[in-house]
Amino acid sequence: ATPVALLVGTSRGAQSGILITGPEALERVRGIDVIVLDKTGTVTTGVMTLTEVTATDDTALSRAASLEAYSEHPIARALVAGAATDSLRPVSGFVSASGLGVTGTVDGAHVVVGRPAFAADHGCVMPTSLAAAVATAEAAGATVVVAGWDGEVRGIFAVSDRVKPGARAAVDRLKRQGLTPVLLTGDNERAANRVATEVGIDRVIAGVLPEQKVDEVQRLQRAGQRVAMVGDGVNDAAALATAELGLAMGTGTDAAMSAADITLVRAELGAVADAVALSRRTLGTIH
Ligand code: ADP
Ligand code: MG
Repeated sequence: ATPVALLVGTSRGAQSGILITGPEALERVRGIDVIVLDKTGTVTTGVMTLTEVTATDDTALSRAASLEAYSEHPIARALVAGAATDSLRPVSGFVSASGLGVTGTVDGAHVVVGRPAFAADHGCVMPTSLAAAVATAEAAGATVVVAGWDGEVRGIFAVSDRVKPGARAAVDRLKRQGLTPVLLTGDNERAANRVATEVGIDRVIAGVLPEQKVDEVQRLQRAGQRVAMVGDGVNDAAALATAELGLAMGTGTDAAMSAADITLVRAELGAVADAVALSRRTLGTIH
C-alpha cells in the first residue's frame, strides 16, 4: 500500500476507535495467522464476583481482603467487594507478585493470598477439607484463590466473571477471516476451558505465568506462525511487544497500551476483527 493509503487507513481507524501507533502496524496485520487472546479482561469482562468462601478460620476473608485492597487485580476487587468494609485491617509490607498473588502482614501474621501453588511456595500446607473445596470449585469452572498464614491454607475463594457480550460472534468473525484463535491465561485449565467452549475457541493454553506468556508467543512463532496478541494486563505487556502485532484493550492497563501497536477504544473482541478488516481494506486485499 502507498504511504497515503496507510495514513488514510490509520485515520479511519482512529475515527472508529482503533488507535494505531504507526502506519507500518497496519501492514503488519497482513499475514497474521494466529490470534492469541488473553482471557481475563479481554475475552471476559474482567469484573469478577466472589461466589464461594470455604474457610477453617473466620478471619480468612477479612485478612485476604485487607491485603487485596492494595491490589488492582480483578480477583482482588472481587475479594474486597465480598468482604464487609468494616472488617478490613491495617496492612504492612504489602508485596504483589504478578500472576501469582499478594503477601503482607495483617494482625501480626504473614498472610499469602493467590494461586494454590503460590501459597504452597510460601509454606502453607493445604488441609484435605479445603483441597476438596478447591477441586470442586475448579471442576465447576471457577477461578480459585487461597489465603493462608502460619504454615496453613485457611480459606479458599471461588471467583468468576462472564464472557463479554458479542465475544462468541467476534470469535466467529475472526475464524472467518482465516485466523486461528488461541486462549492464553494464567488461570486454571478448567476455568479456561469453560470460557473457550462458551466463545468457540478450540485451542487453550492455561496456567501460564506472566513471563511464560512471552514463551508461548515465541513457541507459536518458532512453529512458523505469525502471531497477533490481544491483552489488557500488565502481565500481557511483554507478550504484546513480542507478537508481530500487539492489540491492547482501551480499558486495560497503561503498560499493555504502551506495549501494543493498536489500542482498541471499544474494548470488545469485535474491534479486533474490525482492525483486521480495516488493515485488509487499506492494503487492498479482498477478504
Ligand atoms: P490472566 O492471565 O487470566 O489475566 P493473571 O496472570 O493476572 O491472569 O493471574 C493468574 C492467576 O494468579 C490468577 O488466576 C490467580 O490465581 C493469581 N493471582 C494473580 N494476582 C492475584 C491477586 N491479586 N490475588 C489473588 N490471586 C492472584
Ligand atoms: Mg487480562
